[in-house]
Amino acid sequence: MSKPDTKSHSSSKLAFNTEMNFDYGVAIKVAPGVRRMVANNPGPFTFKGTNTYIIGHGEVAVIDPGPLDPEHLDALLAALAGERISHILITHTHRDHTDGVAALKANTNAPVLAFGETGRDRGARTTSPSGKAFVDLDFSPDKTLSDGDVIQGNDWTLDVIHTPGHAPDHLCFALTGERTVFSGDHVMGWNTTVVAPPEGHMGNYLTSLERLLERKDKLFLPGHGGRIEMPQRAVRAYLMHRKMRESAIFNCLESGDCFIPQIVPRIYRGLDSKLAPAAALSVLAHLEYLVERGLVQCEDSPVAIQSAFSIPQPSPLP
Ligand SMILES: [Zn+2]
Repeated sequence: MSKPDTKSHSSSKLAFNTEMNFDYGVAIKVAPGVRRMVANNPGPFTFKGTNTYIIGHGEVAVIDPGPLDPEHLDALLAALAGERISHILITHTHRDHTDGVAALKANTNAPVLAFGETGRDRGARTTSPSGKAFVDLDFSPDKTLSDGDVIQGNDWTLDVIHTPGHAPDHLCFALTGERTVFSGDHVMGWNTTVVAPPEGHMGNYLTSLERLLERKDKLFLPGHGGRIEMPQRAVRAYLMHRKMRESAIFNCLESGDCFIPQIVPRIYRGLDSKLAPAAALSVLAHLEYLVERGLVQCEDSPVAIQSAFSIPQPSPLP
């Protein structure tokens, strides 16, 4: 058990890459053997829209069909005219990635592969930070995937990496021999990922980041936003960012602010009010993880947005 580093850091600003070259409905090559088509569902949590990836040629895998959108589906099928989809792969069951699954499957008969059921409470349909239903609780894959599985296609191989945190069923897929990882919503270049309890879990998210840090990849292709070059640098920055956020929250508790509505404006200066619910859930995720480690106490279990948090007295810290 280690005390959060409460030394002040000069800056917690992350350098986001919000450049992205694309046209809706057009599949473009983004890496050797990989094409990407962006769905037209832009928003504060989806950036320009959900990325659908096509792996291989002739017989291909599709990662994340995206939202229910006939135009996106038609464009995808047109781009794959003369080819066959052998696998539909799902990074995680959030509706912006899975609502289009049924229609794609109906048109292609391709099997759907995903993590499947999880032990983690997925929460109610209204737990989305955006205020909309976002967890697809009815989703059930044709084949479940686990960490370490290998998916063999015609001219490609993918290794399955279970990366819970953003969602308990989140998977990344590593393209064998290319040092390229499809990072889903776990690592995105345009913004930090949402970690919102009960669906999201900060401890799992950080462990999942560390797993990607151990790898020596050269490219991440995320679920939203453009290519991430030098991905280890991005992962390290995200780990550092969360460490600083945790210490800022711990400082708030030390100075007597023990409720989330007091903490949010202190650590998110000038926050867009539309994003306040997401910020509150992110603070809750940090506090939940601090409580799990015994560094912060809370009478409620599970912890909730309205809970009071405090530092145990005497402090368990050295
Ligand atoms: Zn998403």
